Order: sequence, then structure tokens, then C-alpha cells
Amino acid sequence: MRKRRIFSSWISGREWGCCDSGGKLYANPLPLSGELGHTPVLGNERMCGCGAAGCVETLVSTRGLLQSYSAAHPESSADWASLAESIGRNGVEPWLARTLDSAAVVIAGALNTLGLQHVTVTGSLVDLPPPVMEHLTRVVLQGALWPASAV
Ligand SMILES: [Zn+2]
Repeated sequence: MRKRRIFSSWISGREWGCCDSGGKLYANPLPLSGELGHTPVLGNERMCGCGAAGCVETLVSTRGLLQSYSAAHPESSADWASLAESIGRNGVEPWLARTLDSAAVVIAGALNTLGLQHVTVTGSLVDLPPPVMEHLTRVVLQGALWPASAV
């Protein structure tokens, strides 16, 4: 049996997600499509390009991460290298944990809804120091009904 997976990517300020089954878009008897990035996060009031407020994309995209990092560290330059260095030095700080938790809940919800067991995350998020993906993986696994094989 081929693995069905959810595929999420956070690339250059834009987050999206889709599902695939062995390299093809996930087929389901239900008409199913969506953008995980536009799932609202309680307490998030950032405006999204889709016109709604609070989408997870506004937190976990490159732009969103830098915006949150800048707010938490106004003395630092708000660039990707500084963010990565800060994570390498301090680990996952509370502001980042909240963002990763929000993304993980969205991913776990999609896994549970679709009965999928595998997650692939690509994009700039995976370029950050290992504690980021370790945190995301741990929280996805906490929320997934079925054991996920990899995040
Ligand atoms: Zn949106």
C-alpha cells in the first residue's frame, strides 16, 4: 500500500498545503480541496492576503515568523539569519512555540480528517535549526489520531 501523506510547505512568505497519494493529488470520494494556511488561529489578528484575519499563514510564513521575531526581539535585525541564530542560541522561545503549535494543530487536524499518516514539510521552515522541526513534530504527533510515520 502506498503511503498517503499530507504535504505542507512554507515558502518565501507563503504557506500552503495539499495532500498527495504516491505523487498524485490525494483523491477522495468527497469533493476535497483546501489551503491549510487559511485556517484561523484563535487570538491571531493579523490580516491575511486572502482578506480574512488570523490565518495560520500569517504566523508561520517567512514574513510572519520574521514579524513575530522582530516583535520579540526589537533590538535585533529582523532577518532570517538573525532568526536562525537566535533559535540556535535560545531554542524555541515561547512566541515561536505558539506559532509552531498553531501550525501543528492545523496539520494534525488535516491528518485526522483525511486519515493520513505521513507529513512532509518543506520550505524555509525546515531550514531553521533542528529544534523547530523537533517541536513541530512532537506537537503534530500529540494531535494525530493515527501514528504519523514522519514529519
Ligand atoms: Zn488567509
